[in-house]
Amino acid sequence: AARGPEADGVGLFHAELHRARTARLRLEADLARAVETDEFVLHYQPVVDLEGRPLGCEALLRWQHPEDGLLYPDRFVGVAERSGAIARIGALVLRQACRQVARWRREGLTVDVAVNLSGAQLRPALLGEVRAALAEADLPATALTCEVTETVLVTEAHAIAVLADLRALGVRVAVDDFGTGYSSLAALRRLPVDVLKIDRSFVAALDQPGDAAIVEAVLRLAQALDLDVVAEGVETEFEARVLRELGCPTGQGYRWARPLPAEDFRAWWAARVGTGALV
Ligand code: C2E
Ligand code: MG
Ligand code: MG
Ligand code: MG
Repeated sequence: AARGPEADGVGLFHAELHRARTARLRLEADLARAVETDEFVLHYQPVVDLEGRPLGCEALLRWQHPEDGLLYPDRFVGVAERSGAIARIGALVLRQACRQVARWRREGLTVDVAVNLSGAQLRPALLGEVRAALAEADLPATALTCEVTETVLVTEAHAIAVLADLRALGVRVAVDDFGTGYSSLAALRRLPVDVLKIDRSFVAALDQPGDAAIVEAVLRLAQALDLDVVAEGVETEFEARVLRELGCPTGQGYRWARPLPAEDFRAWWAARVGTGALV
């Protein structure tokens, strides 16, 4: 039969699908091995008040892949969520973050830590994992914040009950990437949360009047509902200044520090506290 350009197009399409599928399967197999051989590391990004005084950190997952080097979450967290590997990876993250922060606290750094959770982790078994991670590290529950995205809060039926139980332990709950999902104000009032993290897309657009108004509205909302607020992705002094002027208490971003390996985070913190240097 004659093979026209359409047939070639279909052939190419199938070849591309095959390639993508092979890559995903390889990634899934690699992830399963990585859990066994402990190839995950955490970087810690400082959370500061807007004068630059250190308050705590967010633990951010990286994968030290033996061939591909250091991989960031956008390369593998989605795949791990679909394959189910995220359950075990998430438990590793909790243990490692609690252990590290407990060690820093024993060394005199009064640091809190926030850990990101996937929707799949918000099941009753999470309670036991969090309790075990805290107990094993000898870390008070109040030093730990669990971050979940707005979308997860709205779409995961069991999420709310699990988060309420976490809070009963004394763990804080933060809504990550706030403003990018669709939680209504009425829903927010009922949600068991302590902190709103303003998504960095709004911070990046603070020079646009409309976006500054959104940030201002979130700050007012947080105040009305008695929630803490963190502005994410603060990159410039201009953004920091606008946030200060709007009364935002807390920030995180390259303006102060990137996510750092544990040793570098410790040095960053010690230098800040040691000199009392602000901003
Ligand atoms: P997120 O929780 O919103 O984390 C903030 C992300 O913004 C991090 O990207 C951080 O490196 C980046 N960031 C911080 N400051 C700035 C800035 O000033 N400018 C810009 N452009 N970016 C900034 P990262 O580390 O690549 O993580 C991406 C996402 O992956 C996280 O977004 C979180 O949703 C997810 N993630 C990270 N660690 C974990 C984890 O342990 N478990 C799960 N389930 N998800 C994780
Ligand atoms: Mg986060
Ligand atoms: Mg975020
Ligand atoms: Mg995010």
